Amino acid sequence: MAEKINRKLIDILLVEDNPGDVTLIKEALKEGQSLNKLTVLADGETALAFLRREGSYKQAPRPDLILLDLNMPRKDGREVLAAIKTDPELKNIPIIVLTSSEAQQDITNAYNMQANCYITKPVDLKQYFDVIKLIEDFWLKTVKLP
Ligand SMILES: [Mg+2]
Repeated sequence: MAEKINRKLIDILLVEDNPGDVTLIKEALKEGQSLNKLTVLADGETALAFLRREGSYKQAPRPDLILLDLNMPRKDGREVLAAIKTDPELKNIPIIVLTSSEAQQDITNAYNMQANCYITKPVDLKQYFDVIKLIEDFWLKTVKLP
């Protein structure tokens, strides 16, 4: 049955301003078995331009899954989440909030704004890899994406 897992190339958009987190997520995804193509953008404004195919992003692929940090420059993840989930063209793209914030208000707000799940960034390397693997196993290999 192992061969029956989803072999389709999955486009992932990572919106994250911390280069350390970006490196860890890239490394962890490389370890995994899924076929994925990762695009990394470092702020919310750029992410929305990419998703709306504005300016130099005319040819941008539509992501199958978005990993979204909350605290970022220019436009933060809360605004990006709200913008995506109120846009009829974009709202069905699953969004995983991946943030260092453990604030209850951020968690509640994210779900109120239709985040698909909320994960706090692990603190050590092993846990980080474990969490990315769990995301991969569930979101890239188990669920059907729209
Ligand atoms: Mg950040």
